[in-house]
Amino acid sequence: MSDRAHRPRQQAAGPEDRRPAGSTELLEYTATRSRDYLAQVSHRRVAAEWTSEELRGLLGRPLSAEGEPDPAIIESLAHAGDHATIASSGPRYFGFVVGGNLPAALAADWLVSTWDQNGAIYAMSPLAAVVEEITAGWLREIAGLAASMSVGFTTGCQMASFTGLAAARHRVLERAGWDVEVEGLCGAPPIDVIVSDEAHYTIVMALRLLGLGGRRVRRIATDGQGRMRIDALRAALQSTRAPCIVCAQAGNVNTGAFDPLCEIAEATRKSGAWLHVDGAFGLWASASPEYATLTRGIEHADSIATDGHKWLNVPYDCGIVFCADSQAHRAAMSLEAAYIVGSSCERDPHEFVPEESRRARATPVYAALRSLGRAGLSRLVEDCCRHARRFAQGLHAAGYEILNDVVLNQVLVAFGDGERTRRTIAALQQEGTCWCGGTVWQGRTAMRISVSNWRTTDEDVERSLEAMLRVAALSAHG
Ligand SMILES: *Cc1c(COP(=O)(O)O)cnc(C)c1O
Repeated sequence: MSDRAHRPRQQAAGPEDRRPAGSTELLEYTATRSRDYLAQVSHRRVAAEWTSEELRGLLGRPLSAEGEPDPAIIESLAHAGDHATIASSGPRYFGFVVGGNLPAALAADWLVSTWDQNGAIYAMSPLAAVVEEITAGWLREIAGLAASMSVGFTTGCQMASFTGLAAARHRVLERAGWDVEVEGLCGAPPIDVIVSDEAHYTIVMALRLLGLGGRRVRRIATDGQGRMRIDALRAALQSTRAPCIVCAQAGNVNTGAFDPLCEIAEATRKSGAWLHVDGAFGLWASASPEYATLTRGIEHADSIATDGHKWLNVPYDCGIVFCADSQAHRAAMSLEAAYIVGSSCERDPHEFVPEESRRARATPVYAALRSLGRAGLSRLVEDCCRHARRFAQGLHAAGYEILNDVVLNQVLVAFGDGERTRRTIAALQQEGTCWCGGTVWQGRTAMRISVSNWRTTDEDVERSLEAMLRVAALSAHG
């Protein structure tokens, strides 16, 4: 086919403006705009500058019949990005648990889109498949997990949990003489699912998608830090006859606390239940000799879910699931299709995840790990935790109440009553030096500070702390 045949047909309408996507100029322009964005993300106001109306004004329009020039499209998006993003990849965003993006991971993410590989099977992308395999090995090593654990790269931690719990559903029902992949759930033996009162809502969502939601889920009481109470779990396991799945947590999204994983693993194993652990951000504590004790016991889990796009600081979208029972993992996620001619000895990534066609999403993880090395990852974790402690110490010294034991990277602070705390959060977001969100912790309204970005420096912490104290003092009076 001649090169001509590939050109867009509308070219006659304005050939000079209609550079095909992928042209050198367009990509160079985009790289420049990205570079400028990153250069200012450390200095700008953290909150979005534009309102949704302003955004609609710039980006909304009737869809054109013939298409528009590519540079104009990228220009308007980049312009919107400069003014309407929240600077969550910057160093003073402490909302939720979001992480950032390491330069090597971001650059690798560009390559992933450039290559446009379908990372589903080895035959479609040997590169994607092999990078996944290598990255999976490094991740198991970092987390101290058995080399035999199977690994899948999902869109996020919710889907990583979905995958781990699908493997769980397969195995516990298989032991009860039921093939869930063939028979479905109608008429299946009931499964008891045990989660803590503090389970992340994405666990509940994953269970619901698997037909294990609602009344099937028993909730276990937690302590003052949100850790599952082991005595309550043991009692619950004792009264369970049915096939059973237990979901524990490594890193509470409010307090950063870890469930007692060793005891939970032991109790779960004794009762023959499956143990799934949600370690969305907490699993990364295992990368630091100083914090690894928090994750002790996680190596006994049957399945573990974590995020790449939070604390590992790779761009969205990236979650990771580990499964000790690799046979159950594959049975739950793969379907023999005649046209997917297996590449025999090579690993097909899609056999470990819910998606079929998928981006080569292990690649940014691969780049991040090579860039950081073991010590770099450990420092990333430790720096964030040190920053969190500094926030807690500075706020406490000013007379504000810290509601959690700061064991990791999460801090909960109350600025007096709920009303004043809410006022302070709103004023701080408005002020723009930094961004923190609100939460309710065991009945108390609190501001949550999550430090999970490699870009955050000591100076960012001091500047943000100063802003918090200034804004809190002002909001003391209505
Ligand atoms: C963020 C988070 C999740 C969900 O992860 P996604 O990547 O958003 O799907 C699950 N559990 C915990 C503890 C989290 O912090």
